[in-house]
Amino acid sequence: MFFTPIEYDEPVFRPPGEARSAILQTTLGCSWNQCAFCEMYTSKKFKARSFEELKPEIETLSKVYKGVKKVFLADGNAFVLSAGKLIPIVNEINNQFGKLQRISSYALPKDILNKSESELKELRNLGLKLLYIGIETGDDELLKLINKGETFNSTIDGIQKAHNAGIETSIMIINGLGGKKYSEKHALKSAEIINKVNPKFLSTLTLSMPYGQDHFQKRFNGEFQQQTIVELFEELKLFIGNLEVENVIYRSNHVSNNLPLQGTLSKDKNQLIESLQYAIENTPENKYPSAPMFL
Ligand code: SF4
Repeated sequence: MFFTPIEYDEPVFRPPGEARSAILQTTLGCSWNQCAFCEMYTSKKFKARSFEELKPEIETLSKVYKGVKKVFLADGNAFVLSAGKLIPIVNEINNQFGKLQRISSYALPKDILNKSESELKELRNLGLKLLYIGIETGDDELLKLINKGETFNSTIDGIQKAHNAGIETSIMIINGLGGKKYSEKHALKSAEIINKVNPKFLSTLTLSMPYGQDHFQKRFNGEFQQQTIVELFEELKLFIGNLEVENVIYRSNHVSNNLPLQGTLSKDKNQLIESLQYAIENTPENKYPSAPMFL
């Protein structure tokens, strides 16, 4: 049991890079909540919390976490809130915390596209400098099969709109998302999307099926054949091998991953590929990943 100065509506998720951030639950759950692979918020009904509810929590967090540099807005896609709702919250965070390095949240591309350029710039100027976007794949067919509610084009448009407003992005891709059948296209189209948007941060997670493969197959609208660990490494190698980007900080340090990787792309591409090749040559071919305890 951890000490928390405010009462959170569990479960609460945050990216690894927000481990030292104050977490403010601006929304509860995910407004979309329909992705085939995601069980994070299936126990919650989406709700936007009011400014009146949040104000005392911001005050408490700022008093307990004195000197904290970052604030993360949870849950699933807090950026779904309109700029009219987000701006007073971000203002209050700045008033209570004082100078922060950044405020961030999870977002869907549609949450960015629903805001005007000037609203995005205003949020950026108020310190909302980073959005975490789980694009999962660049392949339109696979995006449909997992019911992501986004496309190759909407994803690029959303990310570019954020970048044009000066908001940086941290993009997540899921290794093994489509199984054997969709693996090659998943790797190539995902690399294509990353090459077009050149995010500040990139991370890869590995598909986990906490309720088992049958449960996932029921939600996945295609034929799913689970990849072995070696096949997952091959997919990742193809993805990284096709990246042509500048100064992208890459991490594969999620609990779901079989091999921790990190580097700056494309500078460290060869080194990452060598690590993957070594893993491919030294992992028994028929080994399947086991589901991690936590998403
Ligand atoms: S992956 Fe993201 S958008 Fe999809 S259901 Fe989960 S939290 Fe919501």
